Amino acid sequence: MRVIGLLGGMSWESTQGYYRALNEGVKAALGGFHSAKIVIISVDFAEIEALQQQGDWQAAGDLLASAAQNVECAGAECLLIATNTMHKVAPAIEQAITIPLLHIADATAEQLKLDGITRVGLLGTRFTMEQDFYTSRLEEHFGIEVVVPGPVEREVIHRVIFDELCQGRVEEASRQRYLKIIDSLYAQGAQAVILGCTEIAMLVSQRDTVVPLYDTTALHAQKAVAWSLAE
Ligand code: GLU
Repeated sequence: MRVIGLLGGMSWESTQGYYRALNEGVKAALGGFHSAKIVIISVDFAEIEALQQQGDWQAAGDLLASAAQNVECAGAECLLIATNTMHKVAPAIEQAITIPLLHIADATAEQLKLDGITRVGLLGTRFTMEQDFYTSRLEEHFGIEVVVPGPVEREVIHRVIFDELCQGRVEEASRQRYLKIIDSLYAQGAQAVILGCTEIAMLVSQRDTVVPLYDTTALHAQKAVAWSLAE
């Protein structure tokens, strides 16, 4: 089994989900007392969030690149960045390490492709929905068309992520608002919806809707488990 490296803390609420999913994945595959071999470096999300607000992606990339080097030094054999948004600086992080980066959008797109989905809705932070580092990867590398919600809905989704989910709050009213947005993406022709923020699975799950949901935390962890066991 190869050692999985996790760059977490963005937020720590979702890093818990990764830790559980990685261990459950290895246990499901190997049984008994087996669990995942993991190195986690967890950053202070307040520092990252402040740099996001300032638009200082260079400094955020430097900070995460240095943390990723620590993950590698501690013995990890691959790296997961446990947030969709901070994949914006994935190129800077990748340059700083010698172990492979398992990209969250690739893990998601591979499953979408397998399931024959060619047009998908995307929920995430406004950075993920509005900038092109994520959507263009899906479109250009995988030929998957991405539908993003309108501006008012994007603001709702973004605020719920930062004001509630990243602070451990799960509100029923927000769940209902998310479900309405998911329905409207479906009505616009999306065959499925990506939960493109690692905290969203705290709020909505497949039990809440008939629209197929692709949870990036689960898919990212699943890819890492397969990679770890593929020796
Ligand atoms: N975990 C989130 C994501 O997947 C948002 C927090 C962040 O900005 O990193 O995008």
